[in-house]
Amino acid sequence: MKLFTFLSDWFHAQHAKHVNKMKAEGKCPACRGTAHISFISPFEGHSVVCPSCNGSGLYSDWEEIQEAVKKEDRM
Ligand SMILES: [Zn+2]
Repeated sequence: MKLFTFLSDWFHAQHAKHVNKMKAEGKCPACRGTAHISFISPFEGHSVVCPSCNGSGLYSDWEEIQEAVKKEDRM
């Protein structure tokens, strides 16, 4: 399972790096401040309002929602 641990560590390091960068820019890490998440679908250009920041694209809103999710997990 060493490889899995390595990949998991790498993923978390990359994620933390990304979050820090977005924090510095004040943007939501989930949608990179665009407020929309696009995904590959049969419908070209299909996108939804980012649920991680409620469509504001702001880091502060993303952080608030992350904290709310963490609290819910504890219950
Ligand atoms: Zn967002």
